[in-house]
Amino acid sequence: MNVPLLDLNAQNLALENELKDAFDRVLHSGRFILGPEVEGFEGDVARMAGARHGIGVTSGTDAILLALMALDIGPGDEVLCPSFTFFATAGCIARTGAIPVFVDAEPASFNLDVADAARKVSPKTKAVIPVHLFGQSADMDAVMALADEHGLAVIEDAAQSLGAAYRDRPLGGIGTFGTFSFFPSKNLGGFGDSGMLVANDDELSEKARILRTHGSKPKYYHKYVGGNFRMDPLQAALLQVKLPHYPDYTERRRANAAFYTEHLARLPGVAMNNGRVDETSAAAILLPQANGDCRHIWNQYTLRVPGNGRRDALRAHLAERGIGSEIYYPVPMHRQECFREFYRGDALPVSEYLAAEAISIPVFPEITEDQRGAVVEAIKDFLVAER
Ligand SMILES: *Cc1c(COP(=O)(O)O)cnc(C)c1O
Repeated sequence: MNVPLLDLNAQNLALENELKDAFDRVLHSGRFILGPEVEGFEGDVARMAGARHGIGVTSGTDAILLALMALDIGPGDEVLCPSFTFFATAGCIARTGAIPVFVDAEPASFNLDVADAARKVSPKTKAVIPVHLFGQSADMDAVMALADEHGLAVIEDAAQSLGAAYRDRPLGGIGTFGTFSFFPSKNLGGFGDSGMLVANDDELSEKARILRTHGSKPKYYHKYVGGNFRMDPLQAALLQVKLPHYPDYTERRRANAAFYTEHLARLPGVAMNNGRVDETSAAAILLPQANGDCRHIWNQYTLRVPGNGRRDALRAHLAERGIGSEIYYPVPMHRQECFREFYRGDALPVSEYLAAEAISIPVFPEITEDQRGAVVEAIKDFLVAER
């Protein structure tokens, strides 16, 4: 049975008429830069993130860059970020001229190891970027305590976690800034690139808003050197069509994750990924564990497959059966060629083994019962064939 990693048409074409109406509305408005479509969407996303301000931008990447620019981070500064993340998190730090300082991950949550971050704080450290990877919160109490102790700004990279929460607090609005992406594979996937920056601080938000349009206010009077980071009204209008369905998309992802956990946990050799090393070495497959007091939105359902070459063997096995999967992420940031100058040679063992063991399987909202059953069967066959 064919099971794609993600089926965008299943989601988008169900809303075809409303999407076309939204397109028509923008077409006839004659307004193609910022304006009420963007403002309405900014307000809605800010509310979801528990933040006072939303600033619609060109991408999740630009949201991170804009946050760093608004914080005046640049040459001579250091910013802590996880090594096990998507490139944009670290890339934006380097683009400002600052130094990304790579922090190891927690094996159970895949997220920032705050104890390792604490060891890497220096007098030059200005900010920390916790990433809420795969739809689950980083340990935000620990992150905020570290930030308070050292006077650091916190940029939550919530690209994969719109609507997720840490102890009843929505992600994005906890730190100084929060950033979101509407790249098509995110939980709220758009029709091209766009993103959102959120914040509670009035002054920093205003500064980010000015930086979004070349740092000018009023027009042609430049207070800062900014850029063009504006979200399109067309993206905002189309995403607004999907927004009322977002709680349903999320519930379906959560149900799919619960299904996988229930059925995969029954297989011999499969255990929950609770981060303990003894379990890791014994288990054939580790299932992602949702932290009990945090709301996980399952952007990805990510298995750990320990043992040399076994993860790639599982991926090939799934591909043979027409089942999509993806490796997020095969190379940690401290091993990237472009960051060679920043890597200090310290050990980041968890990031290394997560990069070698992690594989994400289809958890998208529209997956059918037959399809997710086929995924479980294929994994079962893989484990049987191995013995
Ligand atoms: C997708 C993603 C980004 C970047 O978002 P874009 O909209 O693709 O620029 C940043 N960080 C993380 C963790 C992401 O998953």
